[in-house]
Amino acid sequence: MAKTPASGMTAGVLLQEVVQERIQCRANLLKKNAVDDASCELCRQSNEDCNHIIFTCPFAVQVWAHLGVDTTGGSVASLWTVPRPATVPPKHYDSFLLLTCWHTWKHRNEIVFNGAPPSLRRLLTACSQDAMLWSCRWPQSERMIADAWCRVFSQM
Ligand SMILES: [Zn+2]
Repeated sequence: MAKTPASGMTAGVLLQEVVQERIQCRANLLKKNAVDDASCELCRQSNEDCNHIIFTCPFAVQVWAHLGVDTTGGSVASLWTVPRPATVPPKHYDSFLLLTCWHTWKHRNEIVFNGAPPSLRRLLTACSQDAMLWSCRWPQSERMIADAWCRVFSQM
């Protein structure tokens, strides 16, 4: 799985922490008194908890909308119940969701820690690149699934 150079965190570890709402979002940091307030550094409109980063921050909303995924009422605790759009094959749909969460989280970190500008295009390009890498671990017969994902990621 892909790794972040900074923390060595893998997408699989992220998934566990996201679903258990344990990632180092500002709401969790506030509980540990590591920050003074929990507002989201991307939108400044809401407290930044796990659900906010992955689903309800306006940037995340834009990402999912672009992919045609309806996240209405979605929560990280029930990530696997997010309905699948017809453009995404059923097989490996959980990995598709994970990949999108992973890059939404990484993109948030690039903005918060490196001062990078938000960019839907950069996030989607990163998703496409990882889709091709992840699919290398699948049987040859399933690799066209990654091609379908890349079409979803690249439609602008
Ligand atoms: Zn936000």
